[in-house]
Amino acid sequence: MRAVVLSGPGRCAVEEVPAPTAVPGEVVVDVERVGVCGTDVELFTGELSYLETGHSSYPLRPGHEWCGRVTAVGDGVDPAWLGRRVTGDTMLGDRVCRRCRRGQQHVCEDRQEVGIRGDRPGALAEQLAVPAESLHELPDSVDPVLGALVEPGGNAWRAAQAAAVASGDRALVIGPGTIGLLTAMFLRARGAEVHLLGVTPASLDFARGLGFADAWTRDTLPDLPFDAVVDASTAPGSPALALDLVEPAGRVVCIGIAGTPSTIDTRTLLLKDVTAVGVLSASPGLAPTIAAYRTGAVDPRPLVCATVGLAEVGAVLAGGRPRGSGAGPKVHVDPRLPA
Ligand SMILES: [Zn+2]
Repeated sequence: MRAVVLSGPGRCAVEEVPAPTAVPGEVVVDVERVGVCGTDVELFTGELSYLETGHSSYPLRPGHEWCGRVTAVGDGVDPAWLGRRVTGDTMLGDRVCRRCRRGQQHVCEDRQEVGIRGDRPGALAEQLAVPAESLHELPDSVDPVLGALVEPGGNAWRAAQAAAVASGDRALVIGPGTIGLLTAMFLRARGAEVHLLGVTPASLDFARGLGFADAWTRDTLPDLPFDAVVDASTAPGSPALALDLVEPAGRVVCIGIAGTPSTIDTRTLLLKDVTAVGVLSASPGLAPTIAAYRTGAVDPRPLVCATVGLAEVGAVLAGGRPRGSGAGPKVHVDPRLPA
């Protein structure tokens, strides 16, 4: 089968590789759609911290925002999975350590991450093997575009949950990229008045097109009380800005990550009685995200600007925009498209 292989920093190719087999406890999925995200770009450029810590090493097979159909099951797997449309958890804990036993397998020290960490091949391929326990079934109303948006959606759902806003509260999201816009959608679905803070006019225009009229730059941001501020940006100064902007007794949520340390003054944190929350991974947010997509409470499909074949992934990772792209921030890949 064909798969995207990263052989070193800046080196990406589609290669013919052995098709996966369904080992005990696992299934094989025919991949229908995969999202390309910032983590994939950092694996391509060599900037991802896991490459430094040894949690990831080349050659790598990326892709962790995916959906597809189960076409083989290994020993010990319920055959009822065969033929079902699914997505899956990126985080695969060892299932034996203290954290895993307490239901926090997404922070397992020995975890694999599909397409990212621990030598677990990813979904930018015609087929993918994953543990059956990591699967989430997709209802018919969650099409392949939505299916491949469940993983980023799960991250955003958790950020919105951590913001703990109620109807009528006001929230600010810093960074109108995929995660920021998804978070804004989940916050809006909770009844909050949602503002976005960004840098480029194009990204703010795109946000307005999604119905977020209150899309600002640092210079135009109105002086309003924000009950929660979510940092979904990659700027090192954003967490401190979030802490400055949030109302006393409010919440700051950190889901964006910068390339250098982000510092805050904890005196401000306590003097303002602020609750700060960090979010890593979609895991506990996958099921509620599928539910929100199924009912239409949140529909992020306009975020997808183009859908390309595997052969174009290298150009996308290098920062290129596919020909005929829309204005959205997310590129999707359909491995079934001809090379
Ligand atoms: Zn574990």
